[in-house]
Amino acid sequence: MAGLNHVVALTKNLKDLDIKMNEATLKGQLIDLHLAVVELKGSVLELKNENLEKEMKITELQAQLNQKVDMSWEDPFYFKKSADGKKDGPFCQQCYDSKSTIVRLPKPDSDNPWYTCKTCTSSYNNPNYSPSSHNRTCDMRYDPLDY
Ligand SMILES: [Zn+2]
Repeated sequence: MAGLNHVVALTKNLKDLDIKMNEATLKGQLIDLHLAVVELKGSVLELKNENLEKEMKITELQAQLNQKVDMSWEDPFYFKKSADGKKDGPFCQQCYDSKSTIVRLPKPDSDNPWYTCKTCTSSYNNPNYSPSSHNRTCDMRYDPLDY
């Protein structure tokens, strides 16, 4: 770090000061030292910020890595394995594959065969949908022999 080397050089100069050095030269040396310390302080703050940014990036990457490990694919959905081993979901395949975003799919009505993502509007067929229960409701209102 250039700022640190500058401060060390200046303090070495002060240590070797001739006791007979005039006041103006001494003040000049102290001003140089003060400016070098201020510059060094700026460098330290810059490094602290860089370090903080890197720590945040590491945290973000670890979170992404954990998501990758915990997600499982069961066509047409993704499911997440929670800490207690339970299966959570379903989640949108389109959002996860394109943006690594986990978006929960709201449960469709019993008479609706589709799960629809509210973020990307992708629709997925509901594997639990039973057309017979839907048709039975219709059959009750329609009798082909009744003219
Ligand atoms: Zn989506």
